[in-house]
Amino acid sequence: MGQREHSRHEHVRVAVIGSGFGGLGAAVRLRREGITDFVVLERADSVGGTWRDNSYPGCACDVPSHLYSFSFAPNPDWPRTFSGQEHIRAYLEHVADTFRLRSHIRFNHEVLMMRWDRDELRWEIETSQGTLTADVVVSATGPLSDPKIPEIPGLAEFPGKVFHSSRWEHDYDLRGKRVAMIGTGASAIQIVPAIQPQAAKLTLFQRTPPWVLPRMDRQITGVERWLHRQLPFTGTARRGLLWGIRELQVSAFTKRPNELGLIEAMARANMAKSIKDPALRATLTPSYRIGCKRILLSSEYYPALAKTNVDVVASGLAEVRGSTLVAADGSETEADAIIFGTGFRVTDMPIADRVVGADGITLAESWKDGMQSLRGATAAGFPNWMTIIGPNTGLGNSSMILMIESQLNYMADYMRQLTVLGGRGALAARPSAVGAWNRRVQERMKRTVWQTGGCTSWYLDANGRNTTIWPGTTGEFRKATRAVDLAEYEVIRVPAKDVRPVVEAAEASEAAEVAR
Ligand code: NAP
Repeated sequence: MGQREHSRHEHVRVAVIGSGFGGLGAAVRLRREGITDFVVLERADSVGGTWRDNSYPGCACDVPSHLYSFSFAPNPDWPRTFSGQEHIRAYLEHVADTFRLRSHIRFNHEVLMMRWDRDELRWEIETSQGTLTADVVVSATGPLSDPKIPEIPGLAEFPGKVFHSSRWEHDYDLRGKRVAMIGTGASAIQIVPAIQPQAAKLTLFQRTPPWVLPRMDRQITGVERWLHRQLPFTGTARRGLLWGIRELQVSAFTKRPNELGLIEAMARANMAKSIKDPALRATLTPSYRIGCKRILLSSEYYPALAKTNVDVVASGLAEVRGSTLVAADGSETEADAIIFGTGFRVTDMPIADRVVGADGITLAESWKDGMQSLRGATAAGFPNWMTIIGPNTGLGNSSMILMIESQLNYMADYMRQLTVLGGRGALAARPSAVGAWNRRVQERMKRTVWQTGGCTSWYLDANGRNTTIWPGTTGEFRKATRAVDLAEYEVIRVPAKDVRPVVEAAEASEAAEVAR
């Protein structure tokens, strides 16, 4: 049977969207919960999510390998303390094999639209290869999946090559070219040192300088790896230590940003080691508190900027006139290629346009004043729909895998609650619960460095609200997502035939008692 026929009129218990860390993690967790009636819909032809898409030269993770992996799938053989993209991608392929997930994954199935069917209490999902229905949707599309390229007048007429960091054109040879790198985020600072030796001239368009600390990357020795293989608790201990150090740092970000001054001194010293020209040093020194934007780790960035074939334009790219790039300060640069390291659509995730909830409006419409969810997972008006890495689940200083695993705990309990309800039931996040959760999050946000540090960043939405970062420790989030609190949900059941679904709010607490 062809895949197309296979997916037509199909009904599953759960449809997971995406096969990055979030989607694969959800698949593993569902199986562990005894749920095998699920599919993973993946628009590309392989797993890996952002670690598949981002293959730019120098692409690596700035979170240590032993922490940037699933706790339930430790890898004693990580070759370096900080993994390169190819190692993380291989790890995710390995997870897909080890946990026998492949039979669940539908590659080249892009989700085009999801609609909540109020009568049948299920999601109708239209994909690029047919339709299916699901009781529950777990959207694990991730915040770093859709590239953002700013609208630059004249860009369409640029005669040279143009691409985004996450859509690298590997066939394009940069040797001998005049290359313009746009942006100075986590991606750009990895790309610059990797391509500087090839480019005839590299011009970096820096709108805002980042704070950069050295990255203590080294090979993990054979002895360490042997130990982690033979005595798995040593790997667990290593992970625990890496986690604990980061947990201790959190309060400086969330409550006492002034304590971060010392880290600024370290970052300044890191720059001074390589940048001897005082004018360039001034250009590269940020004027906001460290941590306000993501702190970047690189030991190669500043040495690359000191090379004679590199120029830093301390201004954003404003216009393109033929092959001339005009910065906002009016300066002009000739280029053969433009590489955008300009980030992703994080606070306006495109998937939100493709979800139509119980009231007939899209998630994007529902979130027009900013993303809001209950415990980072569910949204008012969208029963039995949840996201992995939803609003306010991002981190400024630790591993996203920790947050993903917390969300998987929540998902697992959500599924248990549905099972307890029996038959065809759904949970709908109460608007009051969503409101209360967000007020709590935003109240805590007020003191954080992301709000008070004097910068703008992709953490903030168009209204200046931080709807991406979790303003606490990963431990606090783990606690908040350990179990579903049914008082925060309305319970909806399919009534006798031809009668509209009824909300059985009163039964919620009863069911909660049974479930616990
Ligand atoms: P980003 O952090 O959003 O950075 C985008 C950059 O583009 C910013 O420097 C921004 O300047 C600049 N920009 C936008 N429009 C511009 C213009 N017209 N002219 C000049 N510059 C312009 O994007 P990213 O570097 O791709 O990183 C996104 C996220 O991916 C990271 O924060 C991180 O979470 C993740 N990431 C992680 C790793 C890792 O090691 N784990 C590596 C890469 C990426 P402003 O600062 O002035 O806005």
